[in-house]
Amino acid sequence: MAQIAERLASLRSQLPPSVQLIAVSKNHPAAAIREAYAAGQRHFGENRVQEAIAKQAELTDLPDLTWHLLGKLQSNKARKAVEHFDWIHSVDSWALAERLDRIAGELGRSPKLCLQVKLLPDPNKAGWDPADLRAELPQLSQLQQVQIRGLMVIAPLGLTAAETQALFAQARTFAAELQQQAPQLRLTELSMGMSSDWPLAVAEGATWIRVGTQLFGPRSL
Ligand SMILES: *Cc1c(COP(=O)(O)O)cnc(C)c1O
Repeated sequence: MAQIAERLASLRSQLPPSVQLIAVSKNHPAAAIREAYAAGQRHFGENRVQEAIAKQAELTDLPDLTWHLLGKLQSNKARKAVEHFDWIHSVDSWALAERLDRIAGELGRSPKLCLQVKLLPDPNKAGWDPADLRAELPQLSQLQQVQIRGLMVIAPLGLTAAETQALFAQARTFAAELQQQAPQLRLTELSMGMSSDWPLAVAEGATWIRVGTQLFGPRSL
């Protein structure tokens, strides 16, 4: 596992300062997070709320971790998600956004959200259809308690590099369009790029990349 520090250093050396790295620790034990923390990593991504809570309980001695929820969020887990995550990247419906906003108010928290968009059909992934997101943006921009900060995209499997890069470029353009439509929001974040495609996302203006396998190796749990 000493490899984690080397892999982190190598990856960081390739990132411009505008890009932040989320180490995706899903299916890896708390010990792997500890290892990355020792190498300076502070942002961690998980896909499942319960799994993250279990690891957080093992890491209470590390005070300054920032937790990002990346996976599909069921509405019955929304409260736990607001309690245990600083960022939620996988907000994929108005109903979920509204629920998170209400719960955040009750808990006195202000989580940062990314809106997950589906710019290409992908049966395996959730996300807003762009037309629906345009239509729902006015009501989204009324939410006071959550901080809607940008978009999250996942490239479907099986695209060529050129197609993937075009998709990331489209996400950037779409975010700019939404920002114009809702100037009261601050849609500055583009959460895009994983182990297989992050250089393409960085080339198109990603501000967060979400990398698991390249740092932690194949998922084991
Ligand atoms: C698992 C996952 C990642 C990391 O994927 P790797 O290919 O292991 O880098 C990033 N984002 C999301 C939404 C994921 O589910």
